[in-house]
Amino acid sequence: MSKPRKVLVCGAGVAGPTLAFWLERFGFEPTLIERAPALRTGGYIIDVWGLGFDIAEKMGLLPALRETGYKINELRLVDGKGRRRGGFGARVFEAGLGDRYVSILRGDLAKLIYEACARRVRTIFGDSVIAVDEHAAGVDVAFAHRRPERFDMVIGAGGLHSPIRALVFGPENRFEKYLGYCAAAFTIDDYPHRDAHAYVGHAAPGRQVMRCALRGNRTVVFLVFSSPTTPSRSLQETAEQKKILRDTFRRDSWEVPDLLAGLDQCTDLYFDAVSQIRMDSWSRGRVALVGDACFCPSLLAGQGSALAMAGAYILAGELKSADGDYRSAFANYEALFHPFVARKQRVAARLAASFAPRTRFGIFLRNEITRVMTVPLLADWAMGGLLRDRLVVPSYGG
Ligand SMILES: Cc1cc2nc3c(=O)[nH]c(=O)nc-3n(C[C@H](O)[C@H](O)[C@H](O)COP(=O)(O)OP(=O)(O)OC[C@H]3O[C@@H](n4cnc5c(N)ncnc54)[C@H](O)[C@@H]3O)c2cc1C
Repeated sequence: MSKPRKVLVCGAGVAGPTLAFWLERFGFEPTLIERAPALRTGGYIIDVWGLGFDIAEKMGLLPALRETGYKINELRLVDGKGRRRGGFGARVFEAGLGDRYVSILRGDLAKLIYEACARRVRTIFGDSVIAVDEHAAGVDVAFAHRRPERFDMVIGAGGLHSPIRALVFGPENRFEKYLGYCAAAFTIDDYPHRDAHAYVGHAAPGRQVMRCALRGNRTVVFLVFSSPTTPSRSLQETAEQKKILRDTFRRDSWEVPDLLAGLDQCTDLYFDAVSQIRMDSWSRGRVALVGDACFCPSLLAGQGSALAMAGAYILAGELKSADGDYRSAFANYEALFHPFVARKQRVAARLAASFAPRTRFGIFLRNEITRVMTVPLLADWAMGGLLRDRLVVPSYGG
């Protein structure tokens, strides 16, 4: 009998293409399927350090990452009149990470990873899995638009709302831990206020806006607001999402009116709930999950992409080590990575409230804490050790 080699990877975000890259490198035959008609490129800037940085280095992506990314030197928190009320400089990161970090648009990171595997990996855009039927000889997969096909394994990498997770493991609400916030990101062309190499943000009770200047006279904007219930499932339409954001932020000062004018014009709005996915087990038979689909740390953790990349590398590496024996590979992947991400999720859940404190006093306190973060030890304490990755990823060669 031939060794299990044919792997369907569902979702071309960050985890999916990283997994496809390594599976192909390790001698498997991955097929990548993405529901969107083309690679999705929206999102805010994310900071890549620690494990994510290490995996990017192994993939040979560092030069492109540094060229495409940004060196952010400052987080500046301002009041309604634009006066500095808190924040810290890059020394906080440099003390712990040296120059092993880079800030990059989430869409640019996804594109770089996808381009690294695109020529060697069969990719299907504009289709998705509607049924999986597992049996002794493999997994029969039915698609929305193409003929059914048999694979040896199926990996769900469809993000926070992973359909493979829903098909095989159960409905989203069994695994979702909503953290009480929603977040949105979009870009504006020719926005008049610019500060190079800085995140500049303003908070009102339960709300936070942040902007960052990009090359090409673009600006990327990130909005967070507290919301007792998660509106994401009922709010699929961009127009509805824009209305919610306008209504939520319309009374805020600083540059918020200008930013909302940019929201009206934007065509790349990303909007989602700030939720975590917590699961006891990430695999069932020949089907496994990776990335946000099974261990989403939340949009405010700043580590979703790094964890997705590390998880994908470990999953591919364990499949290589086990020579395609998915049972032991999936078990080893979980044993190695599950405790690590569980700790990251606990810290991220604690820190979520600091992004958009719900009271004026909470904002004041948060701003004061960011001031003392110029002292590296205090920064590490304030961030719950989030800047340290206490996991040594095995080397699988290749
Ligand atoms: C457009 C976008 C913008 C984002 N912006 C931010 C941000 O600003 N900050 C942040 O921290 N995180 C952001 N995220 C989430 C971040 O990318 C993830 O936390 C992290 O990178 C983990 O990646 P992932 O591959 O597991 O999930 P994702 O990056 O969410 O990728 C999942 C992919 O699977 C696809 N997919 C979903 N269902 C199906 C299906 N049925 N069949 C095939 N494909 C499917 C989706 O279209 C998506 O491309 C964003 C995600 C997306 C999709």
